[in-house]
Amino acid sequence: AVDSPLSLLTPEEIARLLPARKPSAHKGTFGHVGIIAGSPGKTGAAAMAARAALRTGAGLVTVATPRGVNDVLEGKLLEAMTYPVPDTADHTFGLKALDLLSAFAAARTSVAIGPGISTQPETVELVHRLLAQIERPCVLDADALNAVADRPESLARCRASLILTPHSGEMARLVKADSGQAVNRDRLAVASSFVAVHRTIVVLKGARTLLAHPDGRLAICPTGNPGLATGGTGDVLTGMIASLLAQGLPPWDAACSATYLHGLAGDLAAQAHGQAGMIAGDVIDQIPYAIGQLS
Ligand code: AMP
Ligand code: MG
Repeated sequence: AVDSPLSLLTPEEIARLLPARKPSAHKGTFGHVGIIAGSPGKTGAAAMAARAALRTGAGLVTVATPRGVNDVLEGKLLEAMTYPVPDTADHTFGLKALDLLSAFAAARTSVAIGPGISTQPETVELVHRLLAQIERPCVLDADALNAVADRPESLARCRASLILTPHSGEMARLVKADSGQAVNRDRLAVASSFVAVHRTIVVLKGARTLLAHPDGRLAICPTGNPGLATGGTGDVLTGMIASLLAQGLPPWDAACSATYLHGLAGDLAAQAHGQAGMIAGDVIDQIPYAIGQLS
């Protein structure tokens, strides 16, 4: 029902939210996604977020990444650009990059921070300082969430619209619960109270992903399957949300649409490859067909 605060996302509703492509469009029409991601051993997370953002329709995608892993990342990407920034001795993001990353974010339509950035103390500090400066709508995922769990007051200080995409383990760290299982025992209450306190949108991932808005809206995503329980699928979702933000969807609509499409792409990947055999790249490849089913 329309006035129920807890809704089940429907394909009709998501189809209405997806951006149309006018004949007169050019790549600037569909926004420029900025992704702050990557560290040694984790450039795949950055590459998957970028590819997912492109497959979801963003006009341009650029990944800001530590200089020491830039060549590896560039080797994995064709259509996305990279923006190498000065890094620490172990090739992670450090404070030297703060001003450049802040300007990078300001020059993009939407931002995603976190895939594969590591939890080095200097990277954690960088995330906090970036949050104090950022103004573009922004997705926080993975290690950016682990950084925030340290000092959640950084969320309140941030002027940007924030979408957080924790799995249950990351949510447990954010709310100082004992474990992901403890979170899963009461997902609705945990997500609702988190967004009421911190005034961000939360996408609490897992079987039946739950979305919560600080204004009280709650939504459950009916798409997706256990085949998505494989490395990299979370990075794919991050890129998809940032892509729809860049295309001008309001943050709640971007979060709901991307989550629905991600699960649907996962269902199509499971049909093609089976739940055991599917990998995150297969989900990216199915995004166009998921969008096609709704158009
Ligand atoms: P992450 O843990 O960050 O890699 O994200 C995993 C992604 O896969 C999220 O979008 C989850 O919602 C999804 N996922 C994982 N396990 C399941 C499951 N059993 N059923 C549906 N979706 C799942
Ligand atoms: Mg993840």
